[in-house]
Amino acid sequence: MKSVLLHEVTRSAFEEYLKENPDPIALVPIGSIEQHGPHLPLGTDSLAALATCTEVAKRTNSFVVQVCLPGYSPHHMAFKGTITFSDETLTNILLDTFQSLRAHGVKKILVVNSHGGNAQIMAYAIRIGKRKTGACIVSPAAVVADPKAAAQNAIKYLDMHSGTGETSLALALFPEMVEMERVRDWKPTTKLVPGADDLACPDRDDVAMALQVVMSYINDTHKLTSSGVYGYAPPQNANAELGRKRFEERVSFLVDYVNLWKTVPSPEEV
Ligand SMILES: [Zn+2]
Repeated sequence: MKSVLLHEVTRSAFEEYLKENPDPIALVPIGSIEQHGPHLPLGTDSLAALATCTEVAKRTNSFVVQVCLPGYSPHHMAFKGTITFSDETLTNILLDTFQSLRAHGVKKILVVNSHGGNAQIMAYAIRIGKRKTGACIVSPAAVVADPKAAAQNAIKYLDMHSGTGETSLALALFPEMVEMERVRDWKPTTKLVPGADDLACPDRDDVAMALQVVMSYINDTHKLTSSGVYGYAPPQNANAELGRKRFEERVSFLVDYVNLWKTVPSPEEV
């Protein structure tokens, strides 16, 4: 096929691809259209998910089915530009996609999610989708080598949205859409509820539990941060090299997963 993106190839080319690849793997990216601070494009998550899937597909002879740009983002609606699906809509989009792919003989589907707000809905859709279609549908997560260090890092920086990490990724993948001058003087705007600040201390012995308690207070973004950037990791500290490193780590993990997955053929009766 001339492209790994299903919507860019002809039916004939796709039919030939299926003949040559009787047990193909479809990659389904999901993300969001939502505010990403003053400096990142609204489609940051969807662009990141698509870039990840495209690279994984090229390295594994898989193909990418991009069916939507928005995800589940009601918590960002107080900021202009956010487009959210309801939970039912996102669930049904995923289920319809799984069923369509299955109708064409695809038995292995990998969902790549780049937006935390989609996580539980995606998990539900995968669970129901597997039951309805009989296909193998997964969204593998990399194993965290040191969970305590990861929790300490998370609680120290809360670098979850539009901070150093995500801005670095954007600078690596779509720098032409990033407007760094808009965060030149950025200072942290995150305010946890009174009392929760005491929990947000990386030196605590119970840091992993404390992080979960802190997360229980995070709901609507505008109540947490006026700039739309979560946490204390400055977007100004972002750099493309860090973004490329993180991107490569994620892509490599998914490529390894797909290659291992390919060693076991889909059951005939699926
Ligand atoms: Zn994001």
